[in-house]
Amino acid sequence: MYSDRVPGPSEDASAMPDTAAETPKIITVADGLGVRQEVDNCTWIDLGGYAVVVDALEHRHKAADVIAAVRDGLGEVPVRYVINTHTHYDHVALNPDFQEQFGAEIVNHSTRDIPPEGLTFRGSRRPAQMIPAGGCHTDGDCVVWVPSDRTLLTGDLFGWGVLPLTQPLRPELAQHLEATYEWLIAFEPETVIPGHGPLATGEHLARWLAYFRSLVEHISEACRCDQTDKEILASTAPPADMRHWWRFADWKHDRNVRVVLRAVRRGGLGA
Ligand SMILES: [Zn+2]
Repeated sequence: MYSDRVPGPSEDASAMPDTAAETPKIITVADGLGVRQEVDNCTWIDLGGYAVVVDALEHRHKAADVIAAVRDGLGEVPVRYVINTHTHYDHVALNPDFQEQFGAEIVNHSTRDIPPEGLTFRGSRRPAQMIPAGGCHTDGDCVVWVPSDRTLLTGDLFGWGVLPLTQPLRPELAQHLEATYEWLIAFEPETVIPGHGPLATGEHLARWLAYFRSLVEHISEACRCDQTDKEILASTAPPADMRHWWRFADWKHDRNVRVVLRAVRRGGLGA
């Protein structure tokens, strides 16, 4: 969820040709590690003897479909925990269904104290670590790292190009965001499961960080050259290699430019 999202000029459903992540589908990342994708991603991880589910979607009426997909993916293995990467409505809607169906415990920053080093869930098969990474999207963001499969679940920290912020961009926030991305990249994930949209890789995280830095640099330089907002908006095109990113050219890039431009005009960023 991005609360201060600025709609782009072509933001309507008919203008979005990419429906790949909108159609319900099951993606197998590894044996016992799967994702049900339908805009929102819901992931199950068989830890051996029990499973965790990460994120529980937006639409309660999809509960039957989602629970069936999870049961199908896990067989007899019970879901013992539902981890919410954060508590925005589009990550927690099915929490009660997992509680009812499996007696699962809900784990997020509001139900547990998550220590800085994180919580490790261990079974006979593989561990999963839930690690706090707050301050970029919400104060309670966590990521989940599955080292055996080099799989990183980022929640809404990675949004296929969109600045994940839900508050105005300030210089110290930009620094925190960059440091968080450097930390995510250092996991060297082979598979990145974002909160929404197609799966990604560590290269996408690195590409986004480079994009963000170049956006700040480019817009700062344009402001120093006394370009108007209109000129800057018109001249800051989405990078060619990112145009195909999920919904990126539709509204995300435009929103990012506006957020960075406001922050540069306020002062401090890119100075
Ligand atoms: Zn969110």
